[in-house]
Amino acid sequence: MNIPLIELSTQHKRLREEINNVIQGVLDRGDFILGQDVAKLEEEFAAYCGVKYAVGVDSGLSALELSLRALGIGPGHEVIVPAHTFTATAAAVSFAGATPVFVDVDPETWNIDPAKVEEAITPHTRAILPVHLYGLPVDMHMILGIAEKYKLLVVEDGCQAHGAVYKGHHVGSFGNAAGFSFYPTKNLGACGDAGMVTTNDPQVAETIRALRNCGQRMKNVHELEPFNHRLDNLQAAILRVKLHYLDEWIASRRRLAAIYNKLLTGSNVAIPAEPLGYQHVYHLYVIRSQERDALQARLKERGIGTAVHYPTPVHLQPFYAKGEDRRGQFPVTERICNEILSLPMYPELTEEQVEIVASEITHTPVPT
Ligand SMILES: *Cc1c(COP(=O)(O)O)cnc(C)c1O
Repeated sequence: MNIPLIELSTQHKRLREEINNVIQGVLDRGDFILGQDVAKLEEEFAAYCGVKYAVGVDSGLSALELSLRALGIGPGHEVIVPAHTFTATAAAVSFAGATPVFVDVDPETWNIDPAKVEEAITPHTRAILPVHLYGLPVDMHMILGIAEKYKLLVVEDGCQAHGAVYKGHHVGSFGNAAGFSFYPTKNLGACGDAGMVTTNDPQVAETIRALRNCGQRMKNVHELEPFNHRLDNLQAAILRVKLHYLDEWIASRRRLAAIYNKLLTGSNVAIPAEPLGYQHVYHLYVIRSQERDALQARLKERGIGTAVHYPTPVHLQPFYAKGEDRRGQFPVTERICNEILSLPMYPELTEEQVEIVASEITHTPVPT
């Protein structure tokens, strides 16, 4: 038996003809840099998210960093980020020149705990950077309320949550800006690195267009930092093909997650939360087990691929711990990092495969 954690080739086989055609189109036109597909993908992705503007960049990390920079965040500023996330969330803050201030996560949703955000605010705080982790939206009502009370900016990290819905609106439409990643394994994935910023603020969109392209607002006038964070037009062409399938793929992930949920309810593992009014897109289907390492080893023996996203909280990563012992600072994050396990999840996974994985888990003897 072999059930991988994720598998991309089936999707690409299915889309082979469509993808080959658009690649050929770019080759024929030769518009490799900021070509027509970048502009069209920006329009289409903005419409999909329900925002006025989208700006294509070269990665999710760049999308977040440039969003912060375009909002005027830099040295001397603090940005609040969850301790439980992928390192790139905090890295975006560091690269913008600001300081990430970590906050613990909620024990139910595993997303940033709004109750703890307020405690972390200082006179230097400029923004909150909530992460819709694993594809589950953050409680944006609470986050936006705190931001309004303390006059803070909000940049959403939507890198795992394309298409996720919170109270009727897509993520990426709540903050002053949002960053998305099209890393190949994300729910909407390119065939290489790519990313996108969404915003309703025309000035933010305009500034990011300049920042991504050597700081030029006008050709040959390098007014801002002359970065190169452009979105590759070949990737944009491929992403436009895939965007048509995103909702279908999300529906498939949700159907498979519902089967996992049903089969694992009442077992010795905890299933992911999905509060009322939230639509999880299950970029990752993550369970919690007190015996995580033993369970993972057993599933591996049975040919079932799993992973831990992420085994070490960001504040304990060497780059952020800076030689200090910061253990114990964020107890919820530190506890769940020892218990979480990502199970196989991708749109082409079959119901039978989900049933096999679930039965391997429920047949693991309960630890004594
Ligand atoms: C993938 C990811 C990023 C970074 O995206 P890249 O495209 O790899 O730079 C940032 N934040 C989160 C939560 C992610 O999952």
